[in-house]
Amino acid sequence: LVYLDHNATTRPAPEVVTEMVDALELGWANPSSTHEPGQGARRLLADARTRVAAFLGCQGTELVFTSGATEANHMAVLGALEAARAASGGQRRRLVLSAVEHPGLLALARRLQGEGVPVDLIPVDTQGRLDLDAARALIRDDVALVSVMGANNETGVLMPVAELAALARAAGSLLHVDATQLLGKSRLHFASSGIDLMSVSAHKLHGPKGVGALVVRKGVVLPALLSGRQERNRRGGTENTPGIAGFAAACELARRTLDEDLARMTALRERLEDGLRAWPQVQVYGRQAARLPNTVCLRFGALDSDQVLNRLENAGVVASSGAACTAAGTQPSHVLLAMGESALHAKAGVRFSLGRETAAAEIQRALDAVARVIGPLLAPIETTAM
Ligand code: PMP
Repeated sequence: LVYLDHNATTRPAPEVVTEMVDALELGWANPSSTHEPGQGARRLLADARTRVAAFLGCQGTELVFTSGATEANHMAVLGALEAARAASGGQRRRLVLSAVEHPGLLALARRLQGEGVPVDLIPVDTQGRLDLDAARALIRDDVALVSVMGANNETGVLMPVAELAALARAAGSLLHVDATQLLGKSRLHFASSGIDLMSVSAHKLHGPKGVGALVVRKGVVLPALLSGRQERNRRGGTENTPGIAGFAAACELARRTLDEDLARMTALRERLEDGLRAWPQVQVYGRQAARLPNTVCLRFGALDSDQVLNRLENAGVVASSGAACTAAGTQPSHVLLAMGESALHAKAGVRFSLGRETAAAEIQRALDAVARVIGPLLAPIETTAM
């Protein structure tokens, strides 16, 4: 099977599995216990924290481990709104996010809107690039939080984090970045990024599912989402030590292999994209935008993505239609709609996402499969006589 769905999730690395098993077998005690086994688990946690922080470019004390990016996003949004409202006597309560955020975050925003929180969406252009003029107009002094993803999970298009950080700072708002898709695919460095709150998830980085973190810049006051005394009163619940140990192993591995991974994914993505673009019916999304090095999102004419993906899977290649989280339905992609696509075309988006393990031979097999099972479905395009 050729697995080209690394933006949905990645296979845990062997080093990750080993470290998780060790944590389960040896470090199983409660890190809050004062006895020696508990203190052993506590040391394991401290060591993991240092390694994750080293990879993300933050301090260990800025990390709050969570059950993943979805929880981190909720903690950032709900916490920032609550803190800003309290500090401003209710004056600062607006939430500004991009129109192409992860469905979980957009669902939270809709829920909050229903409860009376003013919410604005920053539009994107036809390439999926954030409209910075619109952002400038929306980010005013009544904004509690600006929340924009680092890179879009469907198209791979990068968001202008430095510019947003400057806008948010000037307006006195916090900036939250859902950096889930940047992990292992870009040189992410929290300390120099201007970001106040940053969500990450281990399973996009060959780590385990169900663990991630919210990085909270030193000095930022953020109420807890889950009350309790763990994580310095910022996230209650007995720590997921095996998950956190696996996350640390994944970070350490990615730190070692990042340069090589970026170079290989970039070259293979180009090969895949060039091969697919040989079909005149193929339209690549965000081709003129700065994108992640591993992602190609495109449509084959107006062929429905379900049909394309079924045929590809039968030919041994798995990919995804837009966000995996909405793959069950044939809903048009909200990301492609925001880029100005018709409902028909927004159901035709197919995403190929490469990973550390993707080999050149697999790219060739994917291209061969497309030629074999998709090529015959593509209606001929009238070429203009020159
Ligand atoms: N944000 C983005 C941009 C994502 O791609 C994902 C994973 N689909 C999430 C959040 C959710 O992450 P998790 O599975 O860790 O909750």
